[in-house]
Amino acid sequence: MTIISDSLQAIQANIHQTRILANRVDDIKLLAVSKAQTAAKLREAYLAGQHAFGENYVQEAVAKQEQLKDCAIEWHFIGPIQSNKTALIAQHFDWVHSVDRLKIAKRLNEARLKSLPPLNVCIQINSSEEDSKSGVDINFLATFAKEINALPHLKLRGLMTIPAPTKDLAKQRAQFKIVGDAFNTLKQQGFELDTLSIGMSDDYVAAIHEGATIVRIGSAIFGARPSKL
Ligand SMILES: *Cc1c(COP(=O)(O)O)cnc(C)c1O
Repeated sequence: MTIISDSLQAIQANIHQTRILANRVDDIKLLAVSKAQTAAKLREAYLAGQHAFGENYVQEAVAKQEQLKDCAIEWHFIGPIQSNKTALIAQHFDWVHSVDRLKIAKRLNEARLKSLPPLNVCIQINSSEEDSKSGVDINFLATFAKEINALPHLKLRGLMTIPAPTKDLAKQRAQFKIVGDAFNTLKQQGFELDTLSIGMSDDYVAAIHEGATIVRIGSAIFGARPSKL
């Protein structure tokens, strides 16, 4: 049995320690990735002080939001986006980390309620050599960032990536560095960005060394994911 409050505390301590080792003075936000976890588990994490949650499946997330509407939770969508789900995502989330096509960005922009603040978005980058399907090619990044900036109901905050899994810390850092460098280049080009969403349970230490401002952690908080809710 994972004691969620203990895991959260241990991870926060590790984030803090790594931040000092990496000579960082800026904040690093812990996003609890709660896909496949029950609303009761999220509530347990919430009561332990965790207020930002990341979800991958829209319907599952909306059902949990309904059960947790008495909690002041910041909701982040981090999964692949189908175009028929963009309206639900735009209306039910504060952040979307996985924007990788203009068509999707435009649909999110159109569906965002004008009464809500702009939807915070990150561009998902393809950082691995392997031809993974998700993520923007780094060479087209500036063009895509400009296109997103032209959409009034989206606010471009930064970049996100899911690298190829590896246990090798040096390899983890090398993959994250590609994204960190792309992030810094965009900022030098004048884009106002503050978010580098990199790092999961097995590689967040490497990610913090390479500048992560949000780490997305699931199994290290909640234990292994149940296959079905
Ligand atoms: C599931 C998931 C995570 C969390 O993965 P863990 O290894 O459980 O920490 C982070 N980011 C994305 C996009 C995910 O789908």
